[in-house]
Amino acid sequence: MADYDYDLITIGAGSGGVRASRIAASYGAKVAVAEEYRVGGTCVIRGCVPKKMLVYGAHFAEDLQDAKNFGWTVDNCTFDWKVLRDNVLKDVDRLNGLYTQTLENNKVEIIPQRATVTGPNEVTLGDGTKLTARYILIAVGARPHVPSCPGHEHGITSNEAFHLDELPRRILIAGGGYIANEFAGIFNEFGTHVTIINRSDKLLRGYDEQLRDRLLQISLTKGIDFRFNAEFRGIEKLESGALKVSMTNHDPLEVDAVMYATGRLPNTEGLGLAEIGVELGEKGEIKVDRFSKTNIDSIYAVGDVTDRVQLTPVAIREGHAFADTVFGNKPTAVDHSCVPSAVFSHPPMCGVGMTESEARNKLGSVKVYTSDFRSMKNVLAGRNERSLYKMVCDDADKVVGIHLLGPDAPEILQGAAVAVKAGLSKADFDATVAIHPTMAEELVLMR
Ligand code: NDP
Repeated sequence: MADYDYDLITIGAGSGGVRASRIAASYGAKVAVAEEYRVGGTCVIRGCVPKKMLVYGAHFAEDLQDAKNFGWTVDNCTFDWKVLRDNVLKDVDRLNGLYTQTLENNKVEIIPQRATVTGPNEVTLGDGTKLTARYILIAVGARPHVPSCPGHEHGITSNEAFHLDELPRRILIAGGGYIANEFAGIFNEFGTHVTIINRSDKLLRGYDEQLRDRLLQISLTKGIDFRFNAEFRGIEKLESGALKVSMTNHDPLEVDAVMYATGRLPNTEGLGLAEIGVELGEKGEIKVDRFSKTNIDSIYAVGDVTDRVQLTPVAIREGHAFADTVFGNKPTAVDHSCVPSAVFSHPPMCGVGMTESEARNKLGSVKVYTSDFRSMKNVLAGRNERSLYKMVCDDADKVVGIHLLGPDAPEILQGAAVAVKAGLSKADFDATVAIHPTMAEELVLMR
């Protein structure tokens, strides 16, 4: 057998790469992970984690307002963006340290350099060093897509949003997906005027239509503007420093900042993969089989770079399954069905399994149960914001989808997702006693 420098070289120390490397090392493999930026990847450094902290920070705007009806006097409230920003970034540093420590504790060598693939078993580092490995795992994630219109350089992406010196007075967010809706909620709660523009007339494709519509109505009530069927034409920087954005089907709009949230592209550019014959898809995603193996036996890929399901917990599972398969003698394919997901908008929305329209298309006849209610807290606060819960069942009453919109919905869905994954029926939900008074009890009280 050939002699290699390592059993495994992972490129990219994000969620998938770190998990794969750590587990492979626990099986006794000699592992190195090359990372050109910071250990932790998108989720920890510039994604899920700092975003969620901003969501918490933003929600105080409503909580402080609502507090009045609960008897609290909260005069002279002010918000200091820099305090929140710096605290969030400090926590990101802490997590970056923890992730680094995890790798070190598991005897994974961290190589703080960019690496490219120069052969089926060879990686070349930024400084020219060539290293060999029995297996190479690509876990380099994805990057924001930036439209190629004139003046696009004046816009930012979610990467920069965490580092802003000050909050813009007016922001235009391009895209109608996860990032657009989450950041629209964040900026809006902080007092920035937000306009979302999307190329189609659909927000959050893939989520249940009724819930998407409810989120749109609530977002409009909160003051977020929407422009649909609007594609970027260009951005012009005015003398005042403001940005004038031209788009199809609508008048130009003057704002202080533009943020692109128009999807994320696999980070395969310049990685050397095509050159050595690794099969890539149209967007540059790495094509893999059920075990995350590419068409080259020694090269695997996990996470966003494969563009299967661009979610952190999925990347972690893929990384773990890779290590079990290749180093643990336990061939494991990740099950990508029935993956629960959430949008941390204000209020959040989430779902697991089939939406009503997917179920109708796939199963023909379905039964749908809904609960449309105002949470107790919103009633007392005088906040006219209604939650919407939806359960989709097949003919035999098996629950095939649950979709929730309302305060803390993702916290509630995680438990219910277990039931959907396990194939439980409506009768199982009905047989479960409610926890009263909660919002979650609606799940067992739907008739
Ligand atoms: P999404 O895929 O969620 O949404 C992309 C949006 O941009 C859609 O509205 C789409 O329009 C539009 N769009 C796509 N391509 C173009 C284009 N070429 N020009 C103009 N508009 C375009 O992407 P995000 O960037 O919001 O997020 C990327 C991914 O990251 C998500 O898919 C998700 O997997 C993950 N993520 C998950 C989060 C979570 O779990 N809470 C949070 C943030 C990100 P249309 O639909 O009309 O085609």
